[in-house]
Amino acid sequence: AFNIGRSMGGMSRVYTVFSSAVGASERIFGLMEEQPDVEDHPDAVELRDVKGAVSFEDVSFHYEENQPVLRDINFSCKPGDIVALVGPSGAGKTTLLKLIPRFYDVQKGTIRFDGTDISTVTQQSLRNQIAIVPQDIQLFGSTIRENIRYGRLDATDREVEDAAKFAQAHDFIMEHPDGYEAMVGERGIKLSGGQRQRVAIARAILKNPNILLLDEATSSLDSESEAAVQLALNHLMKSCTTFVIAHRLSTIQNATTILVMDNGRILEKGTHQQLLEQNGLYRRLYDIQFHKETVTDNEI
Ligand code: ADP
Ligand code: MG
Repeated sequence: AFNIGRSMGGMSRVYTVFSSAVGASERIFGLMEEQPDVEDHPDAVELRDVKGAVSFEDVSFHYEENQPVLRDINFSCKPGDIVALVGPSGAGKTTLLKLIPRFYDVQKGTIRFDGTDISTVTQQSLRNQIAIVPQDIQLFGSTIRENIRYGRLDATDREVEDAAKFAQAHDFIMEHPDGYEAMVGERGIKLSGGQRQRVAIARAILKNPNILLLDEATSSLDSESEAAVQLALNHLMKSCTTFVIAHRLSTIQNATTILVMDNGRILEKGTHQQLLEQNGLYRRLYDIQFHKETVTDNEI
């Protein structure tokens, strides 16, 4: 569903009908600056509904020849796990997330969902099971209802509104005189950063994914938005396996597994407590990034 334009190939009529949605989808990921060139295998099969176990086995990846970006990545997680990626800028966190919906094919190793090698299935059936909540969602110039429905185009109005409620978006939508029919943008419903995130989460809830890819916002939200976004995310994360590029202390504290990345490798993995005790890179990152919160905690 992410890539309607591409996967439907010659069906340009369909592309035109959904052109605004497709344009938005390519930007939704923010992840995709360029259009990667991944093809289905001629004998690709449909991926059946997965439970959400994911494994990386000796995965290496580069964009440019001789410039490795991910090296010998190994880890696995169970359905429902929360896998948090941390590490300095340029470590390869975003790239690792991009491999999961197969925006790129790996050059070495295998990525599996419930044991199935994802390079053997159709991209459409793979991506149908994945939702992405990016740092900054792109909205298109339609109603707020259609912007949410983008998560699943055949959703009913009722389903759109239920998703908005779970995403803590219903109330601010209803504050506008046109409610769900309000146009998004300057002369319609104007959304704050936290509200935009909740629209992204509503889309993802509507999609009901088995796997969620989340790039947590780095920009700070007002505390009311922060709490609402957290509630919305908790609802979504309960029902799927989550990979999150984590910027918040509470997220990494709640993670089943933290992967600490540097220079394309996983240097450490474990829970927050385990990694603090190792006294390695995680400990240093933690002290730098969360120093203030630590101090505050101690002072209380
Ligand atoms: P992180 O998300 O941890 O900051 P990235 O995955 O964005 O790291 O980047 C890892 C490395 O890959 C960096 O050296 C970056 O410059 C490089 N890189 C990222 N995207 C591309 C791309 N599309 N083409 C070439 N190099 C890229
Ligand atoms: Mg990144």
